[in-house]
Amino acid sequence: MHPAIAIDGPAASGKSTVAKRIAERLGYTFINTGAMYRAITWYALQQGINPQDTSAVIELLKSIPLKFGKEGSQSIVICDGSILKEQLTLPEVNDNVSVIAAIPEVRALLVDKQREYNLCEPVVMEGRDIGTVVFPNTKFKYFVTASEEVRAARRAAEGLTDSIAERDKKDSSRAASPLTQAKDARLVDTSDMNIDQVVDLITQDIQSKLA
Ligand code: C5P
Repeated sequence: MHPAIAIDGPAASGKSTVAKRIAERLGYTFINTGAMYRAITWYALQQGINPQDTSAVIELLKSIPLKFGKEGSQSIVICDGSILKEQLTLPEVNDNVSVIAAIPEVRALLVDKQREYNLCEPVVMEGRDIGTVVFPNTKFKYFVTASEEVRAARRAAEGLTDSIAERDKKDSSRAASPLTQAKDARLVDTSDMNIDQVVDLITQDIQSKLA
């Protein structure tokens, strides 16, 4: 069994940056599961599918040409031979990803892919349901958050248009695997912390559990 480090939290909580840095320190593979939901959303929109049309999205899953792979020690999503990057943070993707992510069939497909990453190697995986659904038995669970003001300011500083409050509301209230802190997850409020402090805190906690 390879360790799986689960890092969950709301939008713009800093969990991606933190998870990536922890993965680098530990020499583990970093998996960004939000990118996987974003890729399906982007592809559905490209195909002219209305994200609210659940049956059409489910039908699309049967033939979706996305590949979930790795480049170096990071997860990537490939479509027709190209790695998806800027496409994943387009405003229309931000606006629709929570609708697509609420579809149980989409989640089932991606959770399988996410678990596959951990079959051969240790991973640091960030998302919304990693500690609750993807790896419920891991002893390494962290719920990274920050006040709504701090998170909105962080997203604005990145120059991205993203209604994070609306997305969090949808993600927390959906029936399938809602965003919630696992009972055994350690809460890390990063409102008054810098990235280094968060990375140090979580890495030390992981190392003490591994020892
Ligand atoms: O992490 P990021 O903000 O890129 O995630 C984009 C969206 O993907 C989230 O708002 C949520 O709707 C969905 N998501 C999810 N479960 C995950 C990761 C992301 O539902 N594990």
